[in-house]
Amino acid sequence: MAYSHSQLETFESCPLKYRLQYLERIKAGRRSIEAFMGTVVHATLEKLYRDIRMTRLPSPEEIGRYYLDRWETSFGDDIFIVSREYGAEDYRETGLRCVQEYYDRYYPFSGGVPIWLEKMVRIPLYDAEGRQIDFVGVLDRLDGLEGGRYEIHDYKTSQSLPDRGRLEKDRQLSLYQLAVEEAFPDAREVELVWHYLVFGRELRLRRERRDLEEVAAAAVEVVQRIEGSRDFPPRESELCEWCEMQEHCPKRKHLFMTASLPVRELGMDRGIQLVDEYVEWRAKKLEAEEQMEKLRRELLEFADFHGVDNIRGSFKVLSIGREMKPKLPPAGSGEREAVEEMLKREGKWEEVSALSAHKLASLLSSGSLGEELRSRLQEIIPFEESASIRLRKLE
Ligand code: SF4
Repeated sequence: MAYSHSQLETFESCPLKYRLQYLERIKAGRRSIEAFMGTVVHATLEKLYRDIRMTRLPSPEEIGRYYLDRWETSFGDDIFIVSREYGAEDYRETGLRCVQEYYDRYYPFSGGVPIWLEKMVRIPLYDAEGRQIDFVGVLDRLDGLEGGRYEIHDYKTSQSLPDRGRLEKDRQLSLYQLAVEEAFPDAREVELVWHYLVFGRELRLRRERRDLEEVAAAAVEVVQRIEGSRDFPPRESELCEWCEMQEHCPKRKHLFMTASLPVRELGMDRGIQLVDEYVEWRAKKLEAEEQMEKLRRELLEFADFHGVDNIRGSFKVLSIGREMKPKLPPAGSGEREAVEEMLKREGKWEEVSALSAHKLASLLSSGSLGEELRSRLQEIIPFEESASIRLRKLE
């Protein structure tokens, strides 16, 4: 199996999305408008450079028309917009501006020769045992310059600009550099160039062989994590809004299904009814608990004031029990350590220290246990499903 940068990125951001998309191969029935805009911009810049390669420089109007035609002919009902502020026209205009500003900035395109355009590349990587793991990707553009110099260009239409630190962590273009060096043995110098089109910015980076080796080793390590995974848990984040797998994901399925319901039908959904009832009863419970606590304090005050332990009601008698209970010194304090030490010395520690399921669960998931010990423990510990309920704000 070959792995792409987006596969690794998907696994790192949400293992469940990885499973749905790449192992179960569920076809997403929808595309985000951001992804759509990116595709149309890429296609337009590819056309621009194909024409240049044919020694025919299209005019800016022609390029603008190509972009708009492509937008109109490919736009469909499958495209979704997360933003409540901006509509499809805003995105269309942003993409058009990206293309036009790019054209103005690089006109008359006298830099390098576009050798590769939207080229599929395959890079063989190797793990510590020498097993080959293929990394694949589509390189936006490779320019050849004089004197064995090459530039790998990548177009970005995202709304965020990375800082230098994030750029230096880049995996995708660094691995493409390995493909370029393999394909062109005369490559003396390879530069990575990102075009952040929304910002009209060009970011450049040179990578040493040691950097490339580190990136390759890190990519192999992610592949090993993928291949060693048994569970692919969902990982909720702000990216969920843009996830095309929401209708297949237990974290988002109900939110997704009800998002398209007309307001008048929302109250008919059993899930919504149950949550609303739960919210109502929880509020009553909290109020009752507050009231009980207040009464408890007043009863104790009454009992203290009158010097009584039993208080008569109309139908019941309330009894107050009093005992002195030990209060544990705070964890990490000298007193706490001294207590533990004494109990251990006297062989009484086992009687007071209990193994808790909660602590065991957090130890197993903490990553502080060695892999071998974790697997051995998991083999002998029976697991049972436990569910918890938590309320959060509806976005
Ligand atoms: S909706 Fe979120 S949690 Fe669910 S698969 Fe997509 S990214 Fe993962």
